[in-house]
Amino acid sequence: MTAPQQRRTCANCDREMVAEYRPFCSRRCADVDLGRWLNERYTIPAIEPPDEWDDA
Ligand SMILES: [Zn+2]
Repeated sequence: MTAPQQRRTCANCDREMVAEYRPFCSRRCADVDLGRWLNERYTIPAIEPPDEWDDA
């Protein structure tokens, strides 16, 4: 019986995780996640009207 190899994937996308940027695959993914976290914490999310409104 072989122990299942845990796949380490980026927390932001499905790419392979890079130890230097863990738990992400790249600096970009880390920045994206951090930015999202900061936005949720410090700003009120803007609600954009759907495109369908033009059809009314
Ligand atoms: Zn990623």
